[in-house]
Amino acid sequence: MQVPFLDLQAPHRELKTELDAAFRRVMDSGWFVLGPEVEAFEAEFAAFCGTKHCVAVSNGLEALTLILRGYGIGAGDEVVVPSHTFVATWLAVSHTGATPVPVDVSGRTCNLDPELLSAALTCRTRAVIPVHLYGHPAAMDAINAVASQAGLKVIEDAAQAHGAAYHDRRVGSLGNAAAFSFYPGKNLGACGDGGAVTTDDADLVRKLKTLRNYGSEQKYVHDMVGYNARLDELQAALLRIKLQYLEDWNGRRKALANRYQQALRETGLGLPAVDSGVASAWHLYVIRTSRREVLRQQLAAAGVGTLIHYPLPPHRQLAYAGMNVGSGSFPVADQLAEEVLSLPMGPHLSEAQANHVIAAVRSATEVGTP
Ligand SMILES: *Cc1c(COP(=O)(O)O)cnc(C)c1O
Repeated sequence: MQVPFLDLQAPHRELKTELDAAFRRVMDSGWFVLGPEVEAFEAEFAAFCGTKHCVAVSNGLEALTLILRGYGIGAGDEVVVPSHTFVATWLAVSHTGATPVPVDVSGRTCNLDPELLSAALTCRTRAVIPVHLYGHPAAMDAINAVASQAGLKVIEDAAQAHGAAYHDRRVGSLGNAAAFSFYPGKNLGACGDGGAVTTDDADLVRKLKTLRNYGSEQKYVHDMVGYNARLDELQAALLRIKLQYLEDWNGRRKALANRYQQALRETGLGLPAVDSGVASAWHLYVIRTSRREVLRQQLAAAGVGTLIHYPLPPHRQLAYAGMNVGSGSFPVADQLAEEVLSLPMGPHLSEAQANHVIAAVRSATEVGTP
């Protein structure tokens, strides 16, 4: 049996009739950029996240960049980011001219360690970007407490956490503004690139709508040095359909994560830890092991696809060689990069496929079949 790491055809088979109709509707309308589908999606996604507003944009990186620009953050400013994240969190800060200031993550949750936050702040710090990595909400109460004392904006990177909840509130509504990605493999994925910002801040919304459209509120009048960073009508129409299934699909992810947690308990592998009072969106199911390469090969031989999120932390990338990070500055991020391994996770894994993954991991770790 083959279990691919990710199957992007299965969700489209399930929703084929509805997606085909949405595609036809947009094609027949002849309206492709900034129209009724984007407006409707913005209203529906804001309602889903529990925020007053949503501004749809071209991708997750632009969502983060535009929020920072909207808050006037740029050259000379510092923005705190986790040491262990997808590099886009850092890139957004760099694109504004500001400096990303990494803070190490907790080895237990893989999210920004709030205990280390205060020590990273300087008189130049303007914002902090907690990432809800793997779908697990970051420690928002502690982060918000430090940020409000220091007068910082809190910008959630919710690119992996659509529908995750923290003390009964959905991510996207937990800071000043939040960035989402609709890259195809995310929990809510477009058929191409897409992104969104959610916020209650009406002033920020006005700026974001200007920034995403060449800095223009009125055609051919440009108040800001803006971007072309719009979500298109076709993606919005497709996302509106998939949004209706997101809760159900996240529920299936959770059921699979629960099965993995039970069945892999005795394997000696490090299993994901989620804080109490939070509901993960289970974007990824990430285990930790010091014998990763061997396990990866054994699973591949059994037909089980795995990936590594992420093999090289941003501070070790050539793009950030100029930062001159001393060795041992971010020990947890460095260790995670050596040990993390993502197992197949998604709403469309069949019962038989889940059983096969579990049997393959148990056999590779020599605890045998359950
Ligand atoms: C995917 C992702 C992004 C970037 O989103 P894109 O739509 O791919 O630009 C940013 N942050 C995190 C944590 C992500 O996983």
